[in-house]
Amino acid sequence: MNIIKTTGFKILTIVIMFLLMCFVKLWYAMFIFIGIGFIQTLLTGRKTFCNGYCPLGNMQDLLSDDKVKPKSFSVHSSVKISLTILFWLLSVIIVYFFRESNTQVWVWFLRLMLIIFSTAYILQIFNGKRTWCKGLCPAGNTMSGYLKIKRIFKKN
Ligand code: SF4
Repeated sequence: MNIIKTTGFKILTIVIMFLLMCFVKLWYAMFIFIGIGFIQTLLTGRKTFCNGYCPLGNMQDLLSDDKVKPKSFSVHSSVKISLTILFWLLSVIIVYFFRESNTQVWVWFLRLMLIIFSTAYILQIFNGKRTWCKGLCPAGNTMSGYLKIKRIFKKN
């Protein structure tokens, strides 16, 4: 059995994220996981992170209702790019404008995480499992973007 894909491991990633964000109050908890995702993508050449390591992906898996059949869902590349730029821009703005207060930075990233989680959860209820991951996730899109660029350079 692949331990990475077990429910126990998925719960562990969510618990670690929760502890880092809500108890240790590390405003950059989300970026620690995204950083792990990028390192895995760089090392494996695939989005390994999305398949069992990502707390948000795992949360969607655990909360999914198998009765809801996944509907086809595609996002135009311009929307993907805009959402990804918006996320990274917003992150930089939060850190820059609230740099004097760690608490403020933490509060804003907590809000951002709650918005992302709620959106992912609501989308999943109506559209099926992991709709958020099908082109809306800025972290996932950034990793996919890197892999696309790498493929283009490899061809040339
Ligand atoms: S697409 Fe985003 S939310 Fe989904 S598993 Fe990957 S990093 Fe996590």
